[in-house]
Amino acid sequence: MKPILVLTHADESGSALTKASLEAVTAGKDLAQQLSAPLVIGVIAVHAVAAASALAATEARILSVTGEAFAQARYASDAAACEALCRAADSALVLAPGSSRFARIAAGVAHRLGGVIDTHITALGGSSTVEATRWFYRQRVEGVFHREASPWFLLLEPGTQTAFTGTPGTVQVESVAVELPAPRTYVTGVRAASQGQQTIRPDAKLLLVAGAGWTKKQPDGQVHATEAGQLILGFLGNSGASLGSSKSLVDQGGEGQPVLPFLTHMNQIGQTGSTPRHAKGLSTCCHGEEPHVVGWRFIGDRRAISLDPNCGWTRGKADVVYIADAFQVIAKVNELLSVNKP
Ligand SMILES: Cc1cc2nc3c(=O)[nH]c(=O)nc-3n(C[C@H](O)[C@H](O)[C@H](O)COP(=O)(O)OP(=O)(O)OC[C@H]3O[C@@H](n4cnc5c(N)ncnc54)[C@H](O)[C@@H]3O)c2cc1C
Repeated sequence: MKPILVLTHADESGSALTKASLEAVTAGKDLAQQLSAPLVIGVIAVHAVAAASALAATEARILSVTGEAFAQARYASDAAACEALCRAADSALVLAPGSSRFARIAAGVAHRLGGVIDTHITALGGSSTVEATRWFYRQRVEGVFHREASPWFLLLEPGTQTAFTGTPGTVQVESVAVELPAPRTYVTGVRAASQGQQTIRPDAKLLLVAGAGWTKKQPDGQVHATEAGQLILGFLGNSGASLGSSKSLVDQGGEGQPVLPFLTHMNQIGQTGSTPRHAKGLSTCCHGEEPHVVGWRFIGDRRAISLDPNCGWTRGKADVVYIADAFQVIAKVNELLSVNKP
């Protein structure tokens, strides 16, 4: 049987694999065991030997593409690196994390190898053949499927597997040579979408979602948008949570209404937004309407604070709903967090 190849890449340090890469390693290891197939792991990193040390306990064959050219994500170099690793491994099944770095190049690499690709895979199974699972129609329908085409590339949705955590050690890394075309693209810096304030943190345990209520007239008849912004940023700073938003709140800027300047459509959760996978979520000042809540499908523990006892959250969409004023609750929580930071 041809080996299963798992493609991985390092984080900004260049010498440690990303969490999503280690999740793909877990998936590859489990599948290789299930199918009794050999496992090959391809590592793209500036310091590949250091990065690969985390894989010692996998007992897999390790291939690497290494060097300064692979420090930063760039289509030409990353696609060439993955193509070389795939050719060296000669695998019929390639697993890779659905990171922004690999999502950009994986389809191109599959095409170069005459293969096919499926993305947003949430689970793998099957005993004699591979069965991949993904959600369709904005996370409403779950499908399980198999393909005969080879090589078959599967991009795994980050957050769906347990990251591999075997004891690190020295591993033998086979270096694969890559001939790069003359570079035409250089990364000169990063401009965050959220105006310098990094509020989207996919690895955070908690997701705080802000709804339009934060900028609506409050019981005193006034709007308190500045205070709302301070409370939300205070909570993020104290808890390390990621920030999501309802569509109504991020749309308000275009309507000339009070806005929270650190929010963009990148924060939007829902049918036309993202579907994050944090362990816990706390919705604040949001009504819990279906097109928004559909994005909460994979949040483990859903809680909401709303003034409205008839909001969507109370109708079976949240595990716990606090009928309370979010301004008061978050102010108190921030006070407690500032003395007892997690
Ligand atoms: C095709 C389609 C796709 C859509 N896709 C999305 C999507 O992807 N994501 C999305 O978010 N929406 C989406 N929507 C819009 C969605 O239906 C809702 O309109 C939107 O989510 C409502 O946002 P909201 O709950 O923040 O605002 P509102 O409905 O205005 O609710 C504000 C809530 O805040 C509460 N509140 C006010 N003050 C306080 C306070 N001090 N303390 C506690 N609570 C308070 C109020 O009681 C109210 O319940 C979509 C709609 C359509 C038609």
